[in-house]
Amino acid sequence: MLLTISTTHSPATDLGFLLHKHPDRFQTFDLSFGDCHVFYPEADESRCSVSLLLDVDPVEMARGKKRQQNFALAGYVNDRPYVASSFMSTAISQVFGTALSGRCKKRPELVSQPMQLEASINVLPVRGGERFLRSMFEPMGYEVDIKQQVLDEQFPEWGDSHYFSVTLKNHLTLSELLNHLYVLIPVFDNQKHYFVGRDELEKLLDKGEGWLETHPEKEAIVRRYLKFQISLQNQALDQLSENDPIEDDLSESEEDQVSEYALEKKVNLHDLRLDTVCDELVKSGATRVIDLGCGEGKLLRRLIKQWQFKEIVGTDVSIRSLEIANKRLRLDELPSFQSERVRLFHGSLMYRDSRFSEFEAAAIVEVIEHLDPPRLSAFERVVFRHARPSTVIVTTPNSEYNVTWPTLPAGEFRHADHRFEWTREEFQHWADSICDRFGYTVECLPVGPIEPSIGAPSQMGIFRLMSANQLAEKLKAVTTTEATKAGDKATDNISTKELSQ
Ligand code: SAH
Repeated sequence: MLLTISTTHSPATDLGFLLHKHPDRFQTFDLSFGDCHVFYPEADESRCSVSLLLDVDPVEMARGKKRQQNFALAGYVNDRPYVASSFMSTAISQVFGTALSGRCKKRPELVSQPMQLEASINVLPVRGGERFLRSMFEPMGYEVDIKQQVLDEQFPEWGDSHYFSVTLKNHLTLSELLNHLYVLIPVFDNQKHYFVGRDELEKLLDKGEGWLETHPEKEAIVRRYLKFQISLQNQALDQLSENDPIEDDLSESEEDQVSEYALEKKVNLHDLRLDTVCDELVKSGATRVIDLGCGEGKLLRRLIKQWQFKEIVGTDVSIRSLEIANKRLRLDELPSFQSERVRLFHGSLMYRDSRFSEFEAAAIVEVIEHLDPPRLSAFERVVFRHARPSTVIVTTPNSEYNVTWPTLPAGEFRHADHRFEWTREEFQHWADSICDRFGYTVECLPVGPIEPSIGAPSQMGIFRLMSANQLAEKLKAVTTTEATKAGDKATDNISTKELSQ
């Protein structure tokens, strides 16, 4: 079983310092389950590769094992010597222990230096297939190359095996790479070669520090890493949530406690609305999303957890809201693979801004009702004409629902800063006019529990940019209608003329 780590950092031979292994030497380490050989297949200034070759001894492995095996020789005849499994993690920690823990006496400055690194694992058994494999590494910024092995080359009709050759490329520190491999390699597999106890929980939290807390698949990682030990899994997840800057429960700000949200809190409407918008953004297939009028970052917090989104941006006219968002999302403390995805900037929806144009989808949640009606048309042009994302999701209150709140006097808005609140018909009318003028289609949906005759507390419009074909069809329909109208008029004129003769 072979793991090879390469770098093109300059000079590439710095890898030798970081690993405490001289590039000119071939070294062998005697581990409890077999031998581990370390050598450098290449080592020059431009590229340096180190290989860790595990020679697992099945006889040693089977010794003392009382567990019932599938067949008499299963203890000796199995895939363990040939695949990357928990043996590989043990070897990484024993042979590259100092690099794993991020120490380097001779060249301490190298430890925190991100560099271009590539790791190749020649055989990785994966339960869950390519999708699962990608979902582990891609959220952390890895470029993942995968080749699935066939069961038997002589019998291609038998199909694929669950063994993969994997190459991972990323710009990060060597210690980060080793920690990711240490935790994730055994996660792909179903087996562990030792009993999983409390020390494993501690190892997981130690090696996962700084990245596992915010990994979108942390639950799957914890579950598989701590095989079947439900109480350990729960402890790990509790601890990880405590350390997760994104998971942090947001205490409501003073603004939130007044009017609107206090009223809506009874139905947890805002959470429901944000979850719904997040789901719709995921469904849109977008990878770059912008939250226009992001406020204190509640939607952004949800978006960060969806690794489909490679670029997540929040913008607001209020600097104070942006400061709160920055603090609550703890953007300064996120690991680099997360903080590189997320950005905030100051901007107004009243002015055309080229920074709004780089996104496939935009969310505008509970913002339009804060805009003065005469200025709404400026907003419409900024979003639908100039930024022009393929998907735009707009939410706004449904004013018909206000009658259900006895504390809200008739005719008043839910929030002191609201400039208007629309009925479902008014919203639909506005949405249709956007579609007519800017070439979108819209689907208007209720958000929240629906009451007969007054609808749901909130409403959402999902605008989708029309394709060239749809636009052409629409133009044709408009032209035909106009022509028919013009034709009717002409006929009318003729008839009148004829009649008058
Ligand atoms: N979308 C957030 C915040 C809604 S409150 C959420 O759902 O939690 C409305 C937000 O719109 C406020 O943060 C306010 O500052 C912002 N806003 C109001 N007018 C704006 C404008 N012209 N440009 C950008 N943001 C604006």
